[in-house]
Amino acid sequence: MSSPTPNSRIATVTIDLVDRIDALLPQTQCGLCKTSGCRPYAEQMAQGEAINHCVPGGIPTIQALAHLLQVQAPEQVDPDYGITPSHRLVAFIREDECIGCTKCIQACPVDAIVGAAKLMHTIIEAECTGCNLCVAPCPVDCIDLVPGADIPLTWHPPQNESADALQQAKNRADKARERFLARNSRLALATEALAKRKAEKAKPALTDAERSALMIAAAMARSQLKKAEKQLSAIQARGETSEVLLAQLPELRAAAQAAQDALEKSALA
Ligand code: SF4
Ligand code: SF4
Ligand code: SF4
Repeated sequence: MSSPTPNSRIATVTIDLVDRIDALLPQTQCGLCKTSGCRPYAEQMAQGEAINHCVPGGIPTIQALAHLLQVQAPEQVDPDYGITPSHRLVAFIREDECIGCTKCIQACPVDAIVGAAKLMHTIIEAECTGCNLCVAPCPVDCIDLVPGADIPLTWHPPQNESADALQQAKNRADKARERFLARNSRLALATEALAKRKAEKAKPALTDAERSALMIAAAMARSQLKKAEKQLSAIQARGETSEVLLAQLPELRAAAQAAQDALEKSALA
């Protein structure tokens, strides 16, 4: 077995570091760190980005990151990114006002909303990270963020929370990460399938030369068939028959039909 190249070793070390950084983040997937989620911010930090952009993570997360990365911990979340909320929030849909447009479902990074087109939507409270991303897209403004379960936003010490509450925070984050990654994979597959369909549709139509080759092939097949039929008729008119022509005719008919089908199919493309 060949040993890993220096580059692949660097890539493995970086992925490992990204995983370890990501494991400390609250997995709210809110994008307040000005990325598209916790993992993208973890990737940036692995490359040296400042460690105090995670708003929901607050000071405990900064300290955990500083410890992992062996850097000085900034004293607070960079105020340009926002202010850490004091409570976990969850989204709440005023269901009688919902028009079933599905815009909130499309915006939710962790698939915490259920519903279907033209039907009422509802939040799965246990899966909602309170990221706020569904609020702005709602055209009838029927989503509020309200205080959620009494579980801390992060699980890093020092925090004045019970071990059970910290474990619940960690479990919630792990679940949110799973749902975020599953959703991203699903979207990536859907995008790939769409791109494939578009590429299929965009396939260039037949060239003039290709179309004329099909026309010639169809005409030749028709003509061979007619010739054989004519020869057989002439033979039969003399009161004789031709076993050879009789055997050839079904094949010639099938060939003429296939050539005609190919020609018609090319006209639809
Ligand atoms: S919780 Fe929000 S701000 Fe913190 S890393 Fe995740 S996406 Fe960024
Ligand atoms: S329901 Fe709304 S607030 Fe909750 S995770 Fe989804 S997008 Fe974020
Ligand atoms: S965005 Fe608002 S109106 Fe549309 S489905 Fe969601 S809650 Fe209902």
